[in-house]
Amino acid sequence: MKSFNESGLNEALLKGIEALGFETPTPVQQLVIPHALTHKGDIVALAQTGTGKTAAFGLPLLHLTDPTIRFVQAIVLCPTRELCMQVTSDLVNYAKFASQFKVTAVYGGTSIDQQIRAVRSGTQIVVATPGRLVDLIQREAIALDKVRHFVLDEADEMLNMGFKDELDIILSAAGNRDSMWLFSATMSEEVRSISRTYMPAPLELRIGNKNAVNENIEHVYYICRPDDKYSVLKRIVDSNPGIFGLIFCRTKADTKEIAEQMMRDGYNSEALHGDLSQNDRDRVMNRFREGTLQLLIATDVAARGIDVNDISHVINYGLPDDNEVYTHRSGRTGRAGKKGVSITITTTKFEDRIRQIERFAKAVFTKKVIPSGAEVCEQQLYNIVKGIRDIDVRHEEIDPFMPKIYEELQDLSKEDLIKRFASMEFNRFLEYYKGAMDLNIYPRNVRTRSSSSSSTGLGIKSSGSFQRVFVSIGDADGVDKREFVKLLSRDMQIPIEAIGKIDISRTYLHFDIDKEFVAPIRTGFEGMKVNGRKVRVDEAMPRNDVRADSGGGRKPVFQRADSDRSSDRPRRRFEDAGKNKKSR
Ligand code: AMP
Repeated sequence: MKSFNESGLNEALLKGIEALGFETPTPVQQLVIPHALTHKGDIVALAQTGTGKTAAFGLPLLHLTDPTIRFVQAIVLCPTRELCMQVTSDLVNYAKFASQFKVTAVYGGTSIDQQIRAVRSGTQIVVATPGRLVDLIQREAIALDKVRHFVLDEADEMLNMGFKDELDIILSAAGNRDSMWLFSATMSEEVRSISRTYMPAPLELRIGNKNAVNENIEHVYYICRPDDKYSVLKRIVDSNPGIFGLIFCRTKADTKEIAEQMMRDGYNSEALHGDLSQNDRDRVMNRFREGTLQLLIATDVAARGIDVNDISHVINYGLPDDNEVYTHRSGRTGRAGKKGVSITITTTKFEDRIRQIERFAKAVFTKKVIPSGAEVCEQQLYNIVKGIRDIDVRHEEIDPFMPKIYEELQDLSKEDLIKRFASMEFNRFLEYYKGAMDLNIYPRNVRTRSSSSSSTGLGIKSSGSFQRVFVSIGDADGVDKREFVKLLSRDMQIPIEAIGKIDISRTYLHFDIDKEFVAPIRTGFEGMKVNGRKVRVDEAMPRNDVRADSGGGRKPVFQRADSDRSSDRPRRRFEDAGKNKKSR
């Protein structure tokens, strides 16, 4: 079946599809629709979310349902309330030109009486979560022996969510059916067992390889130190200014913490986890669906059934233990034939897990270098430029002010003007990322400042320019490394990244510092006394194992100060930048 016209679907449905703008059937639709329409029996279809599977079962289901008969003829089971509502609304849209169809969604968390009334009022298709359907069965509000067609949507997710008992109750009462169609992204043992138990000889349709992830998705990963994961997350988000993303955390606690940090740092983000009330959950989901929320940070459980189109990036803030969970996570992007990126931020310890997931999901993961501060700024700059080009100029509103504006700016050249406009936003990022640390992990544990920065000409200095400095205080004065780093960073405003190795002796110390900060350090110590002694500061010879400013030599190993994270950047400026981010 190459086109919908040759699918055998009735005219009203073809009109509905056309109105939705579906021109050609997706692979899963090409495979499933003809079989579903002609094959009286069961089908097991392995298909990812976002591949058009709702229409793959929804269109034949509507075609096979008789709108003149006023009782439930078909049931679609979905893992979550969100998916239930989504599928219901999709079915209603497909059937827009087929009069008399009634589709009812039944799910937990709302009045069952109202749902019972709706089911009894002549609905032909019920879209249900397993738990609520069992309630309806037990209250004898629905007679399964009259139901002709059953669909299990996202069967693996329903089983992962612990609906095995409910499925057993429902499926054992579904013996009179004509057909059962099971859709699953992965063929887990549990899915296999359901199909073996309740579907005697199903037709197996596979779209792509078993367990394979959607081919439209690019899989990339970044390796960093555990403590740097959050900074890497920010870099990734900042280097993708148009991101519309779903960030997965392993636990509720992580989800809350990351969401709080991101919100504090000015990102357009919210959390989705099990502790939210249904109202809050709906509010967050609506914002995400509408695209006014740019980053949704969620647990796997809470994100089940999120079928939002146009998610540009899925970010795995840590890898899931279960391979299938990765398939589900990444399947939230790259929907409806669009391209998507699934990014994993992890640590060296978990690099083997990447290989395991690669084998399971039959996907190739590309290891990427964590963007430097300069690269982030560069991306932001191009985004600003694009924003200037694409901006909708409201001539009528701005024209009255133009004479005054021309007058004010008349002495500036075109080049100067462009530079100034672009700088308005850019400066904030530049400031924020000035001196940003290289977060990549290299052999021999060497940390550098952004190595590519000097070549970009963005004013972020490259590595290799260190001076060893002598200070006449030592541990006899009660100075330790931590205190000393604090003194430099907090009191003298020296960026942590600029501070290299510190060696403390009894009465004096030596430390490496980016040459740029030698002068401020001299000023900082000016007039300072410790235990009544005037503190003396001098430039010293490089350490034996470090050739300061040698360019090709080994760079100093930076101290990992405890305050690294908090001093990451002056946050105020970044908040501004974050708040100004466009949400898609
Ligand atoms: P689904 O996997 O059913 O959730 O579908 C993912 C998205 O693809 C939905 O937004 C559908 O509206 C869209 N879609 C489904 N089938 C087609 C098609 N044949 N052509 C274009 N878009 C489609």
